[in-house]
Formats: sequence, structure tokens, C-alpha cells
Amino acid sequence: MTPQPRDEGPVPGRDWDRAVELVSSAEEVALACHISPDGDALGSTLAVGLALRAVGKRVVASFGERGFTVPRLLRFLPGQDLLVDPDDYPAAPELMISFDAPTADRLGELARVAGKARELVVVDHHPSHVGFGTLNLVDPGAAATAVLAEELIRRLGLPVDRDIATCLYAGLVTDTGSFRHSSTTSEVHAMAGRLIATGLNPEEIARELWDRSPFGYLRVLGLALERVVLEPETGDGLGLVWTYVTRDDRAAYGLPYHEVEGIIDVVRRTDDADVAVILKEDDGGAWQVSTRSKGGIDLSRVCATLGGGGHAKAAGFTSHQPVEQTMAAFRALLRRAA
Ligand code: AMP
Ligand code: MN
Ligand code: MN
Repeated sequence: MTPQPRDEGPVPGRDWDRAVELVSSAEEVALACHISPDGDALGSTLAVGLALRAVGKRVVASFGERGFTVPRLLRFLPGQDLLVDPDDYPAAPELMISFDAPTADRLGELARVAGKARELVVVDHHPSHVGFGTLNLVDPGAAATAVLAEELIRRLGLPVDRDIATCLYAGLVTDTGSFRHSSTTSEVHAMAGRLIATGLNPEEIARELWDRSPFGYLRVLGLALERVVLEPETGDGLGLVWTYVTRDDRAAYGLPYHEVEGIIDVVRRTDDADVAVILKEDDGGAWQVSTRSKGGIDLSRVCATLGGGGHAKAAGFTSHQPVEQTMAAFRALLRRAA
């Protein structure tokens, strides 16, 4: 497999045609998305998986995490029965399609499999992508990978039923922050309109994604907010607000890692900071760092320097250093980027 990076911009027609050829001629298609999947990653994967299965393809889907479990808030997505443990994933698929992962790294345990796939189609919208596929359907201008997944399904001539639409809609609302982010265009709303027309229930999807938590979440949110720090002088007038959640915090309330992923949306609310950060210790003891900007600074570049990536206004990285050291490194880069 030879990776073929592509120039930026919307996906050229010939690349879509090639994708259609590859999928049409494959008997089995192996789908994957990034580890710690969000609604866009898993939603896009399951949407394409359901569409392909409906026309008789053998489909497997997974994400490369040890102790593979689907985050509770994504268990409502149709097509869960397509998912297999990464241990049961084909070792060298004839056709593998990766969703919402800008680098092979983000496929976790399945990165090695991606390297052995005869053909690897990368479907993604991260500006930080490196085009690691044999075919890259990447559009950094797309609001979500789900936009590209819908296009792929359409180009394959496959119908989008209510279940498929539910998966795509979950991706669309996740990555646009419920149609609040700058990526929210008339095309995004037009797509939402098409999906809702299949009969899906937007209220139910929103409730599953954002309005449910175990009680312990409130306690852990309380801890994170008690510790929150505001640094008004970081960078060129750029305020920084940050906090952290340890795995012991979560353990005290039996809270799985993914339950704390939404806390950044509370922290970033303050008008007194342009940049918001939360460090979340995962079950393995590594710190997963989420960063958000109001637009004054390109965080995808800051986070890429720290080994991560993402978008200008929402990016992240993984740190194996203690909280203070991680924040010192981040702060220094922030000052330089400001
Ligand atoms: P999150 O803060 O987890 O919601 O992620 C925001 C954005 O940053 C997403 O586009 C992720 O793909 C990206 N991101 C988060 N964590 C990492 C990481 N450890 N490595 C690379 N990209 C990341
Ligand atoms: Mn994602
Ligand atoms: Mn995405």
C-alpha cells in the first residue's frame, strides 16, 4: 500500500469514482473509525456499514481500542451488530475504509491493519490530515465526516433509510455542536433536512447525545469546576481557562472516561477566556487534552506540535506528563502562536 496525499479542497470526482469502483468490486469491506469515537466517527462508520450490508456486502466495523466498548451515549446508534472487537477484525482486509481519523495513529490498534489493507480509503475532514490512505476522500471544508459519508452512500446509489440517517445525523449534530459552530452552513441544514425527512427523531438523538448522564457526572463536574483556573494574561491578551479530571475522580463515582468528555463545553463558556482546556486522565493513566478556541488562535497547529491535531477551534493531544508540565508546554506554545 502506497499512501497518496492529495491537494486540499473538495474531493475530485475521479476520487469518488475510484471509491465507488473499489467498494463495488469488494466482497468484504472493513470499516474503522478513530479511537474514543464520537458521534461523527461512529455515526459515519455505521451509516456506511448499514448501507453496504443492505446490498449484500459482508461488513465488519470496529475501532482499535483494547477492552473495546462502545461509549454509552453512542449505543443508541443503529447498526451496533456490525461492530466486532478489534481482535476479531480481518488482519489484512482487501478493502478498509477509515472514518474521521486524520492520521493512522488515531486508529489505535487498527493502525497496523490499515497498513496491511490492500486498499485503504480514508474518509475525513480534519485540516491536520496526512492522507494516509491509498485513496483519500478528505475535505477539510466539510462540517463533519458524516457529510462525506452521505456523499459516498449517494455515489454508490444506495438509499438512506431512517437508521442510516440517524447515524449520519448524529455525526452532523456532534461536529456542528448542534448547528452552533462556524461550520454550520446552508448545506449542513439542507443535509439535516434530508435526514429528518426519513422520519428520524431529532429530539431523541439530542437527548441520547447530550442530555443523559449518571448521577456521578454531576459530582465529577463539580470537582472539575472547583479546580478551574483562569489565566487572563496568557499570550497576547489571550485568556486561558483550564481544569482537569483524574481517573480517581471518576473511579470514586464509577464514571467511565467518555462521560467526562462534555465538560469542556461548560468550561469554554466563560467570556473571560479565548482558549479553554481540560485534561482528562484516561483509564491507562494518560492525559487526553481537549482544547477549544473562540477563533483568535489556531489550536490544530498548537496541538499538532504536541503530537495531536484537530481543527482550528477544537483540537486535542495526548500527554504522558503530569498536569502542570503539560500545561506549561501548552502555555508556551500558545504564547508563541498568539
Ligand atoms: P475532543 O477534544 O476530543 O472533542 O477533540 C477535538 C478535536 O481534536 C477532534 O477533531 C479530534 O480529532 C482532535 N483530537 C483530540 N484528541 C486528539 C489526539 N490525542 N490526537 C489527535 N487529535 C486529537
Ligand atoms: Mn471525531
Ligand atoms: Mn469529525
